[in-house]
Amino acid sequence: MEKATRQHTKEHNRNLVLKTIFGHEQISRAETARITRLTRSTVSDIVSDLIDQGLIRETGVGQSQGGKSPILLSVVEDSRWLVGLDLAQNEFRAAVVNLRGKIRGVVAIPVDGIDRDGAAALKLVYKILDQLIGDTSQPRSGIGVGAPGLINTNEGMVVNAVNLNWKNLPLTHLLQERYGLPVHILNDCQAAAIGEKTYGKDFQKDENLVLINVHHGIGAGIIIDGVIYRGDGGFAGEIGHVVVVREGGELCRCGKRGCLETVASARALIKNARQSIGHHPESRLPSDPQQITLDTVEEAFKAGDPLARDLVLDTARYLGIVISNLVGVLNIQKIVLEGDMTRFGAPWLDAIRQSMMEYSLEWPLQNTRVEFGGLGENAVILGAAAVFANNYSHLIGH
Ligand SMILES: [Zn+2]
Repeated sequence: MEKATRQHTKEHNRNLVLKTIFGHEQISRAETARITRLTRSTVSDIVSDLIDQGLIRETGVGQSQGGKSPILLSVVEDSRWLVGLDLAQNEFRAAVVNLRGKIRGVVAIPVDGIDRDGAAALKLVYKILDQLIGDTSQPRSGIGVGAPGLINTNEGMVVNAVNLNWKNLPLTHLLQERYGLPVHILNDCQAAAIGEKTYGKDFQKDENLVLINVHHGIGAGIIIDGVIYRGDGGFAGEIGHVVVVREGGELCRCGKRGCLETVASARALIKNARQSIGHHPESRLPSDPQQITLDTVEEAFKAGDPLARDLVLDTARYLGIVISNLVGVLNIQKIVLEGDMTRFGAPWLDAIRQSMMEYSLEWPLQNTRVEFGGLGENAVILGAAAVFANNYSHLIGH
């Protein structure tokens, strides 16, 4: 028992030192000791172990504070490579990511045509990971997976991902067996929020943030006090299925009517455009409904087409209502938007803000910033990989 406790303390101290060095471009042993409140000799022992592991190295000499000039340490960012996988609804993307969130190679595969074929979707996951892990120039330290739908992170289970037709799929177990690496799976919006928190340049200082991913589906990742908030069941942030149209709402893929996704997602926008085009022969949108895609809507929107404009800004108004509710409940002042719909740019963002002003209490809104994320299409990949970069025990040899 005593031995176990000592081992635990050792690990705790080591993680503390690593976290501190990770948090700085360069830092001396003395400064690390000051921040961690560990003794200098403890820090020195841990540092020499981490240097042996290849995780950190001495990179220069700092300013003298009177005595000898201190030697500076930094993370060897390419000493460990992680794999991040984004199982988005129209395309699977995976990348090798280094410890500083730099992407070292991406593989993307479109998922058209496998709709609702769970076995085919799983094969694609293997195909994409085989490609990234097969290249063994540098061993991988872990696989992080951001998946749409309901995910049980603790059990490594995809509880329900409608588009992929996965129900209670033990994805973590399957991937661990196949690749012999630690695997962590989480909801894609939660992953994107962790990505922005860890690697988004402006967001590292924000202890609280809500990331909203608006693509074919809609979901949120909520960070509170620097940590992802999963909720009691792990399903926090499922704002896509908050009902916003009480009567006569469209049927949602979840089986209810009038969910936010039925009026504000990319899928809803395309559907509405296809249904409206018959009544608007003057519109610049293609007259054949089947030719209407997100790209053609974007083209018409940017050319000032009134129909495209009305349809797009309508999605923003609904989003504004739900974001107002989030702000009302949580009073989190940083709202970050990501996903395919951000292509509609400033007018869309302004319409969201406008709607929030209409539906929010004045005071909580005053200091609330709503903006686009900085990581774009890589947010989920980076967040899924960051789970390992933030969990230092996976980086150390045993
Ligand atoms: Zn729904």
